[in-house]
Amino acid sequence: TAQQAMTGQEARVRADDRGHVFHSWSAQATIDPLPVEGGAGSEFWDYEGNRYLDFSSQLVNLNLGHQHPDLVAAIERQARRLATVQPSFANDVRGELARRIVEVAGEPFEKVFFTNGGADANENAVRMARLSTGRRKVLAMYRSYHGNTSTAIALTGDPRRWPNEPADPGIVHFFGPYLYRSAWGATTPEEEAERALAHLEQVIMLEGASTIAAIVLETIVGTNGVLVPPPGYLQGVRALCDRHGIVLIADEVMVGFGRVGEWFAFQAHGVVPDLITFAKGVNSGYVPLGGVVISGDIARAFDQRAFPGGLTYSGHPLACAAGVATFEVFARDGILERVRDLGTRVVEPTVTRWLETHPSVGDVRGAGLFWAVELVRDRETREPLVPFNASGADAAPMAAFASACKKAGVWPFLHFNRTHLAPPLVITEDELRRGLDVIDAALEVTDGLALG
Ligand code: PLP
Repeated sequence: TAQQAMTGQEARVRADDRGHVFHSWSAQATIDPLPVEGGAGSEFWDYEGNRYLDFSSQLVNLNLGHQHPDLVAAIERQARRLATVQPSFANDVRGELARRIVEVAGEPFEKVFFTNGGADANENAVRMARLSTGRRKVLAMYRSYHGNTSTAIALTGDPRRWPNEPADPGIVHFFGPYLYRSAWGATTPEEEAERALAHLEQVIMLEGASTIAAIVLETIVGTNGVLVPPPGYLQGVRALCDRHGIVLIADEVMVGFGRVGEWFAFQAHGVVPDLITFAKGVNSGYVPLGGVVISGDIARAFDQRAFPGGLTYSGHPLACAAGVATFEVFARDGILERVRDLGTRVVEPTVTRWLETHPSVGDVRGAGLFWAVELVRDRETREPLVPFNASGADAAPMAAFASACKKAGVWPFLHFNRTHLAPPLVITEDELRRGLDVIDAALEVTDGLALG
């Protein structure tokens, strides 16, 4: 029967996967990946007919949802015209995408170096900063993720760096603002911004301003907590960079291309970096693509001297065609406007209410369609519901929360003691409310573990 055939297919997917696919970040014998049969819009489903509303947008890349007809059509069209061409030729869709990215990035950006994803974007941005300044050192934040290649994992300020050390002796970490767990005991956003800037200024002084090529930061810290910088912080960092001739690199891999209702998140913060790294949302990950948006000044440093870097698939036509289609969909469907509207009208009031109704909710924060709900055992002490970097039995409370979400048809994003709300930007208002209701109900599981 059809049902048995389906089960047979699922068994084959599972067997091939468990037998032969070596998975990211995992102890291979401890995982049981869900076989996914398909997806459409904000949902995907398994072979048993279970449908999940994707509150994680896969890895926060699926901004336009699954199987968006315009993206699929653009890739199909491009595949029939010219499926690939190597980077040293000029290509129409590659050029058009670069121009459109530079147009929305604004002054002083002029050029785009395309990569295969976010890690190699950061890798190459750092290389550009080092070569254009003639300096070697790079400052990056604790509580950050910048990717899995050698420089990118060294920049990373979370436990994924630890097993890869010694990483890069030229990279130094500093604390960014995080009001809920302030490194300085600050109690207001203004104070947090001020203290974080004073700290960074000291780090620059002690490391030697003249040795520092770049400061790399996620404009809004993504996986490590949806940490929206307090007003004034990014302007302060920009001023320190200007004073000392340091290149400011904004990692917009997770928050760029609409996640917070802006083309780039820095645009809501009144600052302009020197280099922007992007990936994920540029084409929703339909074909791997990332890149570095380069200011005119830094681009000119490589006018007469060769840039020593390249990738076989830099500016891949299938990926760029999906990127151009992304721009068309954003404009036609008012994606940035709808993200801001759904964020402020639906998500923000809902999660703010959870602070009152759920004893396990310690903090909520975010913008657009990107929010963190931080879970605690005790709202007084702010003791996290699970320890930093918890795994296995230690992480059981978060697993119980996730399982309650999944049973009710929502696939949540989890990191340490937090769940993040990051649905596709095309999610309907009904779907969004349904997903929030499911999470609201699942929080009763974690409430049972909190002091109240
Ligand atoms: N930078 C940020 C902020 C990210 O969130 C990620 C991925 O999650 C990366 C860089 C790395 O991107 P990729 O996995 O495409 O290499």
